[in-house]
Amino acid sequence: TFVSTIVNLQTTSYPTSHARLENPPDTPYFVNNKLIKSKTTQWIDVHDPATNFVVTRVPQSTSEELTAAVNAAETAFSDWKNTSIITRQQVAFKLVGLIRDNWDRLAASITLQQGKTFQDARGDVLRGLQVAEQACSIVNELSGQTLEVAKNMKTEMYREPLGVVAAICPFNFPAMIPLWSIPLTIVTGNTLILKPSERDPEAAIILAQLAAKAGAPPGVINVVHGTAPTVDFILDEPRIKAISFVGSDKAGKYIHQRASANGKRVQCNLGAKNHAALMPDANKSAALNAITGAAFGAAGQRCMALSVLVTVGETKDWLLELKDLAKQLKVSGGFDSKADLGPVISPQAKQRIEGLIQSAEDEGAEILLDGRNFQSVEFPNGNFVGPTIITNVKPGMKCYDQEIFGPVLVVVNVDNLDAAIELINKNKYGNGSAVFTTSGAVGNKFQKNIQTGQVGINVPIPVPLPMFSFTGNKGSFLGDLNFYGKTGIYFLTQYKTVTTHWRDEDTEVIDKAVNMPT
Ligand code: NAD
Repeated sequence: TFVSTIVNLQTTSYPTSHARLENPPDTPYFVNNKLIKSKTTQWIDVHDPATNFVVTRVPQSTSEELTAAVNAAETAFSDWKNTSIITRQQVAFKLVGLIRDNWDRLAASITLQQGKTFQDARGDVLRGLQVAEQACSIVNELSGQTLEVAKNMKTEMYREPLGVVAAICPFNFPAMIPLWSIPLTIVTGNTLILKPSERDPEAAIILAQLAAKAGAPPGVINVVHGTAPTVDFILDEPRIKAISFVGSDKAGKYIHQRASANGKRVQCNLGAKNHAALMPDANKSAALNAITGAAFGAAGQRCMALSVLVTVGETKDWLLELKDLAKQLKVSGGFDSKADLGPVISPQAKQRIEGLIQSAEDEGAEILLDGRNFQSVEFPNGNFVGPTIITNVKPGMKCYDQEIFGPVLVVVNVDNLDAAIELINKNKYGNGSAVFTTSGAVGNKFQKNIQTGQVGINVPIPVPLPMFSFTGNKGSFLGDLNFYGKTGIYFLTQYKTVTTHWRDEDTEVIDKAVNMPT
C-alpha cells in the first residue's frame, strides 16, 4: 500500500491543461510523512470542473487508516511539543520557501480540481503563504507572563499546545484554508489531522509534503480523506482536542454541536451574504470595477465574494454600466490565460445556482444579465455559469435569503445610507460588507454602525492580512477564537500557570497551615 516517501515536487511533471488524463493516479493519504495508497473499497471521483473528466479518485479513508493517522499524530506530539521554538520556527521559515518554489504546481492543481483561473489559484496560494510567513514571527505571541505575587513567590503563565488538532476544509480555497492551519500547528507545537475537501484534495497533499520537506517530523502534519464518516470520526475521537472547520452552515452547525458536546474546542467559519453599499458620491469607475471583480471573480465561489449590491439613491442608474463590465468577462477553463472566471465546482452546483436565478424571476425580480445556459465552445461539458445580475430584489426572495455561491450579483435599491445599513444589519450573516464613497463621514458612519465582522471602505473584499484575524461574525462564525493571527495562536494553545516559592535558605517553618491564607 505504501506509495512513496516525499518526492522532489519541483522536478516531477503535473497537468497544466484541461486535456483528458490517460491514467489518472489515485490520491494517496499522508501519514508519518509518507504518501500511502488507501485500502478502502470506497472511492470518490474528482472531476475537472471545466470538462468533467475524472482527474483522480479520492479514498474514503478506512477507520483503521484514520486511527493510524491519530496514532501517528499523538506519538509525534510528545517530542514535537518539547522541540525548541526556534526549531519549529525554522520549519515554518523553510515551508515558506518551499511554497514559493512550488507555487505554480500548487496553483495548477487548484485550477485542475477546483476550476478557478490559474492566476486566481496563484492568489489562493499567496493568501495561505502569507499566513505561513506571519507564523514565522508570531512566535512572540506564544510568550506568557510572569508576576512576583508574594515574597519569594512568582506565578508564570505559559501557552502550551493542545495536542492533536484537526482541520476540516471546504472546496473553494484548497491551499489557503489548509494553510490557515498547517503553519500555526507547526509553530505552536501541536500535531494536525487535516481533511481537505473530497472535491479537490491535491493541494493539501502537496502542502503536507512540503511541510515534511521543511522539517516537520513524521506525524506532525497528516492528511486523511473522505466525507461525513471521516468527519464523524474526527468529531468523536477523544485524542483530537480542537477542530477548525470552514464550510457551509449545515455542516458547520452540526460539527460545532457534536464536537462541543464531546468537549472539544471548535472554531467554525460558515456561509455568507456579503453586501456592498454604493453611494452616489462614490468614484464610479473604481467602484464598478471593484464590484465586478468581487462579484464574479472565482465564479463567486469565495466566502467573501460580493453577493448583494445595495444601490443607494441614484446609483441604481449605474447598473447598465455594471452590466457592460460584467459582459466583457471571459468565462472559460481556468488554464485559458484569458479567462476571467472559470466553471463552478460541479454540475449540481450549476443546477442549484441556475435554480436560484429562476426563482428570482418567478418571484418578480428582473434578470438584468443572465448567465444561465452558458455554452463554452472549447469546454462544452464544463459547469459554467456566466456572470448574472438580478435587480429589484427584496429580502424574502430566495435569491436574497440564500447563499448562492456562484457568479450572481443580486441588487437591492434603497433611498439612503441609513436604509442600507439597516438592510445589511438585518441579514443573518456577518462575514463582510463594504461601502463605496468619497466621503469620510459616510465611511465613518458605515464603519461604526455596521454589524459585519469585516468591513471594507472602498475595498470590496476586506479579508484581513494575517497580522490580523479572519473576523466574520453573526451567522458566519461559530466559536469565540478566530482563524489565524493572534487569535489563531490562542485557539491552538492553552494556559498553564506555575506558582513557585523559593524560601530563603535559613527560613524556619513553624506554622502548620491548614486554613486558606487570610
Ligand atoms: P461543505 O460544508 O459542503 O464542506 C466543507 C467540509 O465539510 C468538507 O470537508 C466536507 O467533506 C465536509 N462536510 C460536508 N458535508 C458534511 C456533513 N453533512 N457532515 C460532515 N461533514 C461534512 O462546504 P463547501 O461546499 O466545501 O464550501 C463552501 C461553503 O464554505 C460556503 O458556504 C462558503 O461560504 C463557506 N466558506 C466559508 C468561509 C469563511 O471563512 N467564512 C471560507 C470558505 C468557504
